[in-house]
Amino acid sequence: MSLTELTAAELSAKLRSRDVSAPEIARVHLDRIAERDAEIGAFLSVEPELTLAQAENAQRMLDRGEGGRLTGVPVALKDNLSTVGTPTTCASLILEGYRPPFDATAVALLRAAGAVFVGKTNLDEFAMGTSTENSVFGSTRNPWDLTRSPGGSSGGSAAAVCDHMAPLALGSDTGGSIRQPAALCGIVGFKPTYGRVSRYGLVAFASSLDQIGPLGRNVEDAALLAHAISGHDPTDSTSLPDSQIDLSGLKGGALRGLRLAAPRELFGEACHPGVRECVLSAVDRLRAEGAEVAEISLPSIDYGVTTYYIIAPAEASSNLARFDGLRYGPRLEGEGHVGTVAATRGRLFGHEVKARIMIGTYALSAGYYDAYYVRAQQVRARMTAEFEHAFGEFDVIVSPTSPVVAFPLGELSHDPLALKMLDLCTIPANMGGFPAISLPCGLSEGLPVGLQIVGPIRGDERVLQIAYAVERALAG
Ligand code: GLN
Repeated sequence: MSLTELTAAELSAKLRSRDVSAPEIARVHLDRIAERDAEIGAFLSVEPELTLAQAENAQRMLDRGEGGRLTGVPVALKDNLSTVGTPTTCASLILEGYRPPFDATAVALLRAAGAVFVGKTNLDEFAMGTSTENSVFGSTRNPWDLTRSPGGSSGGSAAAVCDHMAPLALGSDTGGSIRQPAALCGIVGFKPTYGRVSRYGLVAFASSLDQIGPLGRNVEDAALLAHAISGHDPTDSTSLPDSQIDLSGLKGGALRGLRLAAPRELFGEACHPGVRECVLSAVDRLRAEGAEVAEISLPSIDYGVTTYYIIAPAEASSNLARFDGLRYGPRLEGEGHVGTVAATRGRLFGHEVKARIMIGTYALSAGYYDAYYVRAQQVRARMTAEFEHAFGEFDVIVSPTSPVVAFPLGELSHDPLALKMLDLCTIPANMGGFPAISLPCGLSEGLPVGLQIVGPIRGDERVLQIAYAVERALAG
């Protein structure tokens, strides 16, 4: 069996028992990338020498008896996470050639822990999208069916983990970008509570919604990575105190007596019948194991997509103002300062990014601010309150992660509205800052379906513990 078959936890055990070395593990994963990635297109950059140097360093740590569970374990990084000295493009022409002078905090924590970076992964430009088709470097393909999308925007990270090019990857999730590609690729993706993982060095899309999180092939692996990247960080003003995710209770949960709520708004019309059936049959299995499941209504979910597509572009329009051709990446000369900025932004941002900057600027402009932005914030507050109320009665909320399975590349790229509607199930967790995980729960039409579990603020440990128990029940 190849080492690429092993989970992060298994690789870690083998490193500790000296069955394999960190450079050996790095090499087989680099070989796998070299062999497979021309077809999949998960990576935007791979720098084998740097990877191998990191692996040797990890091995030295292990030889000295230092390091933790991720020392020597390969991790792929979404290309909107700043990595010192290596390209960070956000899949945009406007950042071509940019090499940040610093690491994102999550990246720095992994580097210090001796994790080994195998490359930077493809994404929708600036993480704006649901299919990884908005990357200027081309689409990533879903390893389950190369004619289909891996989902997005962390499609490269999901495809890399799914196709065994890395056991683990980091993604970012603003409206579902970790969970949805995880669902479409049949792996696990976890968005921690807002503030438990520092956003420092994550190229900002919508700062009140963005959160970095792990993708892995099982819950334990995702939890190991979540633990390693979480913790308070004074360089992120929204970082929570005492925020490191604790894994001590991960395997100690039971399904018996668990109170699960299934909101009917996420099982309705918008949901493909095959997906609905698959998730409902998984929920029935949990009921058979002793969980209580109640159907509830969270009416503001119906307004989630429209609300999100005001708030996220509004924040993006402000965040992306910094890309002016003067500070980062290439500059296209125009007439005077304004001409240069206009030429650079006009030609180097892609269509979806420009559309969002315009929508966001409009929603924030005088005269429209109250009608759009303020109302969207009111809906957001109401949605958050509805969820919080539900958490008073139930442990977690369960639903499909995506209303559809992986769709053919090109099918929705000319229908931006249909694509955005696919975010229905994942958006509420970002709106309220809640922790949420997607794990595989079966197949529909031969393609993976994700089950989403959402918990209350700071309920990350509980969500992971429940997901671990659910994973076991569904496997059994
Ligand atoms: N699909 C959503 C969007 O296009 C979410 C993206 C994300 O979470 N980064 O904005």
